[in-house]
Amino acid sequence: MPNRDHLPSTPAQAWLSQAIAAIDADYQRSADTHLIALALPGLAQDGIDLYLKDESTHPTGSLKHRLARSLFLYALCNGWVHAGSTLVEASSGSTAVSEAYFARLLGLPFVAVMARNTSAEKIAQIGFYGGRCELVDNTSQVYERAQAIADETGGHYMDQFGYAERATDWRGNNNIAQSMFSQMARERHPVPRWVVVGAGTGGTSATIGRFLRYQRHATELCVADPAGSVFGAYHRSGDKGLTGAGSRIEGIGRPRVEASFIRSVVDRMLEVADVDSIAAMRLLSELLGRKVGPSTGTNLVGMLALAGEMRARGERGSILSLLCDAGERYLPSYHNPDWVQQQFGDCAPAEQRLRAALC
Ligand SMILES: *Cc1c(COP(=O)(O)O)cnc(C)c1O
Repeated sequence: MPNRDHLPSTPAQAWLSQAIAAIDADYQRSADTHLIALALPGLAQDGIDLYLKDESTHPTGSLKHRLARSLFLYALCNGWVHAGSTLVEASSGSTAVSEAYFARLLGLPFVAVMARNTSAEKIAQIGFYGGRCELVDNTSQVYERAQAIADETGGHYMDQFGYAERATDWRGNNNIAQSMFSQMARERHPVPRWVVVGAGTGGTSATIGRFLRYQRHATELCVADPAGSVFGAYHRSGDKGLTGAGSRIEGIGRPRVEASFIRSVVDRMLEVADVDSIAAMRLLSELLGRKVGPSTGTNLVGMLALAGEMRARGERGSILSLLCDAGERYLPSYHNPDWVQQQFGDCAPAEQRLRAALC
């Protein structure tokens, strides 16, 4: 318990104190997310086990719930947010949904700056939590517009792409890595051979990568990166000035090198074709009996590629990844066969390839 003998003396201190207490209490009411063991008899027979941490079960439906909580506490404890501050974020949607939830918890106005093609479901959810959406034509315009709105309102730009890597305590404190590792305790391969994640902000890969080193685990970290993202080329070259077309898998892959993507903690990058991500999203939805989002498909492609390499070397072990969000947010898009056909063409050959890899 914090020491409350010295009560906050100014209204600003009192507001800050109750804001942090409100987030703390919300956290206290929360449960951890499940680690799902995938039932894949063919791989299991060869001693390879796959697991997904189900981040879709957070109150706001994605792994961004963790990030939003961390960013709010970081901003509050830095003294950047006050009673009545307008909070602004540049987002591809999921972060804004989660931040709108926390803004409502604190009674603060929230503005999300997003590309016009962001899923209608996410836009509706931001509105549900009382947030306002500002839509721009192109992903590359979100950052400047968000900063401009913060300046105009005297508010605060949350800047997930800048602060994601530092807002979360990577040593532990029940972060996603620590939770995954403790949930693995009774498995036959409790220390995973690989952890596979996608990178949007890069915050999750930074937290997990640092945790692996700090705990001195032999586990390696792989980032599965969609076509069009700049992270793969940046990992090879280290050139921070690189830009790309941008990803077509919502939530991951960026058109510019984000400050929160920490290249040196990533052991391996795998570039994943969009048709493979979508085929894997469908296969996994079938396997689990419920729909998952496209970035989770990208993760599964990465896991299966690494499982194939392990199998070829006769290596046994476990591979962990994330179920980032549920498919219900993408019913009119990635889970709509007509839309997929129009956007990405035929995914059937990719589906057949992946089915074979699952055996
Ligand atoms: C943000 C996001 C990711 C990637 O997580 P980061 O920690 O930002 O790199 C993956 N999937 C979805 C759906 C996301 O919203």
